[in-house]
Amino acid sequence: MSEKREALVKEVADLSRFGSKFVKAIETTLAGGVKECRFLPSGRKIFSVVGRLGEEFIVPGRPYCSCSNFFFRVSGGSEELCYHLLSYMIAAKTGRAVVVEFSDDEYGDYFSALVKDVFDLFSRSG
Ligand SMILES: [Zn+2]
Repeated sequence: MSEKREALVKEVADLSRFGSKFVKAIETTLAGGVKECRFLPSGRKIFSVVGRLGEEFIVPGRPYCSCSNFFFRVSGGSEELCYHLLSYMIAAKTGRAVVVEFSDDEYGDYFSALVKDVFDLFSRSG
């Protein structure tokens, strides 16, 4: 486990400037927390990251994350990104995102379950 960790840290050493977020993102990536959900046959993708508190919905290209850190700090301009987006960057760069396939018909159910998780998380963190 620690060897795997060291190898991963080395691969993405340029991102270590994010400090404690980098450490959290490395743990999240190693735990398989970065998920790429592919919907077929359309090929559309949705990304989510299972972090310490629960699952967050992310849009890497925008960038966007549903966590409160992103909303208050990143949107507010005081931080560059949250550790969920950093986890995604690490996983994408090193091929460690966990791919899950769904059929297009399942999109509605998938998305409402994800939104419910995000909502529950907000309720719990106050
Ligand atoms: Zn986030």
